[in-house]
Amino acid sequence: MGADPQKIEAPRLGEPYLLTPGPLTTSFPVKEAMLRDWGSWDDDFRAMTAEMRARLLAMIGDASAGFDCVPMQGSGTFAVEAMLGSFIPKDGKALLLANGAYGKRAAQTLEYLGRDHVVIDKGDFLPPRGAEVAQALSADPAITYVVAIHCETSSGILNPLAEISEATYAAGRKLLVDSMSAFGAIPLDPSEIRYEAMVSSANKCIEGVPGFGFVIARVEELEAAKGNSNSLSLDLHAQWSHMNKTGQWRFTPPTHVVAAFMEALRAHEAEGGVAGRGARYTANRDKVVAGMRSLGFETLLDDRWLSPIIVTFFCPADPAFSFDRFYELMKAKGFIIYPGKLTVADSFRIGCIGQMDPHVMADVVTAAKVCLSDMGVENAAPPAAALKERERLAA
Ligand SMILES: *Cc1c(COP(=O)(O)O)cnc(C)c1O
Repeated sequence: MGADPQKIEAPRLGEPYLLTPGPLTTSFPVKEAMLRDWGSWDDDFRAMTAEMRARLLAMIGDASAGFDCVPMQGSGTFAVEAMLGSFIPKDGKALLLANGAYGKRAAQTLEYLGRDHVVIDKGDFLPPRGAEVAQALSADPAITYVVAIHCETSSGILNPLAEISEATYAAGRKLLVDSMSAFGAIPLDPSEIRYEAMVSSANKCIEGVPGFGFVIARVEELEAAKGNSNSLSLDLHAQWSHMNKTGQWRFTPPTHVVAAFMEALRAHEAEGGVAGRGARYTANRDKVVAGMRSLGFETLLDDRWLSPIIVTFFCPADPAFSFDRFYELMKAKGFIIYPGKLTVADSFRIGCIGQMDPHVMADVVTAAKVCLSDMGVENAAPPAAALKERERLAA
C-alpha cells in the first residue's frame, strides 16, 4: 500500500510546493476538474453531492451506518461553528480542550454563540489528558459536551483523542471533534473512538481545493439539533434535512470545488484510502524530521506527539538566521513554508500533507541546507533557553 511516487507530479507553471496545512498543493486532475460549470439544481450535480456524502461516510468505517454527512459552504471554521451551534443546545454547556490556536478559536466561537463553556487551556502545545477531562467533568455536572481538537495544527500535535473520548463517555457526556487537519489520513472510526460528530474540510488531507467543510454526525444527534442554531446559514439540521429531501444544498453550493473534491476522493481511494494516505504523510514526516535534525534543527514535540500532518521546528539561535530571509530563500527554491505560532520561542512549521512524497521532502531538506549556508548560519540548533522552557513546561 502507499503512494506510487511516480504519481506525485511537480506543481505546474513553476508554482511552489505549499508546505502548509491547507490550502495545499493539489494534483493537476483536481485543478482540471474545475474547468466546467455545473447547475446546482441539475441531476448531475445532485448525484455528485450524494456520492460525495457517501464516500466521506465510508471513510469512518463500518460503524458509519448510524451516521450521516452534511457538507457546509465556507472554510473549515464555518463548519466548526455550524457543528458547535447546531449540536450544543442553548442551555447546554461545553468543556473545551485547547492547546493552540484552533482550540482558542473554538472557544471564541462558543463565546460568539453564547454557549456556556469552560476551557482547559494547556498553552502552546501540551496535550489535554484523559485524567484531567475526567476530573473537570466530575467537578461540573452541568457540562454536556466535550469539544476536542484532533490534530492541533498550530503546533502539529496529535492529541490523545482515545483517552479523551473514554473519559467523556465514562462520565456520560458527549464528544464533538475538530478533525479538520487529520481526517482522511488518521483513522477516526467511531467503533474505536466514540464521538457524536466530527468536522473537517475539503482542502486538508483529502487534498481538494478550499470552499466547504463537512460534518459527520450520528443521525440521532442531527435529529436532536432541530431549532438549536442561532444562525440561518450555519444550521446543520436545516442543511441536512433539506439535502435529504431535495438532494440539493440549501444555498448556492461551491460547484467547482465539489467537482474538484470528487476527483480528490477518487485519488484518495486509489491511494489506499485513509491507511494509504496516512502512510504517505508519515513517510513525508519521517523524511523531513530526520533530514532537518541532521542539519541541527530540533522539533518542538517529542516523537510520540508528532503528527504526520505538520511539524514545528525551533528557529536556530545563530544570529545570522532570520526567518523572513529563510522564508524568501526557500520560496525562491520552490517551497512555501509556514510561520510558527508559539509564544515560548521563535519557530516555523513544515506541512507534510498535499501532493508531496518523501522525494519532495528530501528536496526540502536539501533546500534548507543551502539556504542556511546562504545566510551564513553554521549551526541550526535552537536557543538553549527555548529547550529549557520546553522541558520545564513538559515536566
Ligand atoms: C484548518 C483548520 C481549521 C479551519 O480553518 P479555516 O481557515 O477556517 O479553514 C480548524 N481547525 C483546525 C484544527 C484546522 O487545522
